[in-house]
Amino acid sequence: MKSPDTPLLIYCDNAATTLTPQPVIDALVQYYTHEHAPIHRGIYARAEYATERYEQARATVARFIGACSDEIVFTSGATQAINMVARGWGDKHVMAGDEIIVSALEHHANVVPWQELARRKNAVLRVIPLTGEGKLDMQAYRALLSFKTKIVAVTHVSNVLGTRVDVQTIALMAHAVGAKVLIDACQSVPHERIDVSSLGADFLVFSGHKLYGPTGIGVLWISRDLHDAIEPVVYGGGMVYSVGAHAASWVRGLRKLEAGSPPAAQAVGLAAAIDYLEKTVDFALLRIQEAALCMQLIEGLQRIPGIQVLGPIEELKKNGHLVSFVVDGMHAHDVAAYLDMHGIAVRAGHHCAQPLHQMLGIQASIRVSFYAHNTAQEVAYLLACLTRLKKDEA
Ligand code: PMP
Repeated sequence: MKSPDTPLLIYCDNAATTLTPQPVIDALVQYYTHEHAPIHRGIYARAEYATERYEQARATVARFIGACSDEIVFTSGATQAINMVARGWGDKHVMAGDEIIVSALEHHANVVPWQELARRKNAVLRVIPLTGEGKLDMQAYRALLSFKTKIVAVTHVSNVLGTRVDVQTIALMAHAVGAKVLIDACQSVPHERIDVSSLGADFLVFSGHKLYGPTGIGVLWISRDLHDAIEPVVYGGGMVYSVGAHAASWVRGLRKLEAGSPPAAQAVGLAAAIDYLEKTVDFALLRIQEAALCMQLIEGLQRIPGIQVLGPIEELKKNGHLVSFVVDGMHAHDVAAYLDMHGIAVRAGHHCAQPLHQMLGIQASIRVSFYAHNTAQEVAYLLACLTRLKKDEA
């Protein structure tokens, strides 16, 4: 199969995954060439060094989100992390008749594990609806909360509408009825400085490949008071204290959640991505730069007849990093294919958020999502392509 390298690649699908910068690739090559060995298993120097690199990576991740190393579990991604909470915590603490709350904004990764938990336990899944602007309806949320609520799982920033959720208030209200809170921070951690302690959550998840890191690595942060409340969901080597013929016991702390040979190279790559971000990106400026691109794109799209921009437009102009829209009379896939012919990569479809698209009364949308490398010239070119598409179609 031919490599899809085109002379021009304007990459605007960063909310799905980011391309990998050379220093991250270099760190992976260095690790595999000179450092790789078993983690937490060997007593020879190279294995001890590899273990140190893996644990240093955990420390880097912890520092990046204002946490402690022993609160961080490496997973394969956000999806696995949410499933681990739904299984490992949910199966133990959610009972028949209990309630689980998610929002109408959620990615399938933060919906389906809770649907399945509700099904397994005969619990009830409730959904926080949206206002007309695409924000969470906080009054409706208040009405949904009760002492039956066991967990509230919400995104920090929507991967479709770009809506920013006031997770602090969500958490305060959930805690007032004794419920736990999981934050899906996939779309916030890459773009802003997160201090996990100030969010008030119990669980927080994100994926490494959306912040210039490798695939196959994600993070589950768990508040210290819940370390004993979550059970392993995968069993095997590395997580056991002792194993007899018929039963086993687990090591103390969150290592019980990391069974099997860990994703060491990916963790080292994620740490390299964080180093790269910290060296090259000023997060305050990044937000200004991304919001300016959103403003330019939204204002340009609004000038093209037959295009509707989705979500809280004014908020995105001040604070966003992605914009979704629909084009009258054209399927999103056709729009994305046209842009691809012009060297522009955008996402088209339901973006793993079918319930949200159903609620908006559309099947699919086009999403342009920015990161540190995107420029105003790229947005101007994208707008020129869309203007020509609409003219050609007329
Ligand atoms: N939540 C959100 C908001 C996302 O954008 C994504 C990735 N599109 C996920 C969860 C799932 O992440 P992953 O596929 O890396 O597990």
